[in-house]
Amino acid sequence: MIVAIDGPAGSGKSAIARMVGENTGFTYINSGLFYRALTRKVLDSGCDPSRREQVLPIVADTELRWRDGRLYLDGKPVPAASLRTDEVDSHVAQLSSFPELRQLVNTALRSSARDQDSVVEGRDITTVVFPDAEVKIYLDASIEARAERRYKENTSGLSLDALKAAIAERDQRDRDKQQGSLQLSEDAVHLDTSDLTINTVYETVMEIIQSKR
Ligand code: C5P
Repeated sequence: MIVAIDGPAGSGKSAIARMVGENTGFTYINSGLFYRALTRKVLDSGCDPSRREQVLPIVADTELRWRDGRLYLDGKPVPAASLRTDEVDSHVAQLSSFPELRQLVNTALRSSARDQDSVVEGRDITTVVFPDAEVKIYLDASIEARAERRYKENTSGLSLDALKAAIAERDQRDRDKQQGSLQLSEDAVHLDTSDLTINTVYETVMEIIQSKR
């Protein structure tokens, strides 16, 4: 079974998908980390991330693999903390708009989830990567609630207001993409988590999963 969860930054996707994975034994796959790892690689190469002709050769011979809950880039495990930085945040939405990058990530996601129960979260999992997923959920929350959650995570050097502006800008880029844009799939269950505790969201998601098993 595939459980697909989409939603904007800070909507609670990662926390919920991780809890589902831990408590059901489903493989948990965070697709945002794939885009973040590619962004890190492009930034480390020193090329201009806005120049497609410079970016594509760097990305072309990249191997991405998800194994035992960790992402491997070109055979080496990538520490998730190194990918959750303000620098990566500010480039990832633009780089992930290149169709070639999306193709690479989509192929890696499908082979990572192949033949096993998986819970996969991101922006286009319900619409593009696994359009036939048995369970589709769209998690949402107000921009205020999402910025506050990120602020409390303490991984950003930005003020709460600056964080709110950065998230709003990334949301807009993610919604405007020509391929793999963030959108609510017609057949997804829409949950606004602004005023819900993580446990309430988790219980609701588990009820939806159990009703489909
Ligand atoms: O989920 P997270 O916020 O870590 O994702 C980082 C970025 O990666 C998103 O803002 C988006 O630009 C990109 N992304 C995407 N498609 C996905 C997952 C993430 O374009 N399925």
